[in-house]
Amino acid sequence: MNAFSTDTASCENNQVKMPEKSCSGTCSASALNAPEIIHVAADTDSVRCDGGHGALGHPAVYYRFDEGVDRVICGYCDREFIRSAS
Ligand SMILES: [Zn+2]
Repeated sequence: MNAFSTDTASCENNQVKMPEKSCSGTCSASALNAPEIIHVAADTDSVRCDGGHGALGHPAVYYRFDEGVDRVICGYCDREFIRSAS
């Protein structure tokens, strides 16, 4: 009984008092804020993005690489797609 109620109380305290501090190092919130960079083959004409996993998910969208432009940034999740010559 005691242990259960104590756990509940400390959990609520964490969420209310310092959500950012408790998340900054360990949970995936920080990773969600940092845009991913996706490298695609140099002969790729278009890329498909649906935000991938979890909270960043969004309807699937396709982006074309404009002529002479080797990068595309997803307007939904800020992922950056870069064509690389390798
Ligand atoms: Zn996206």
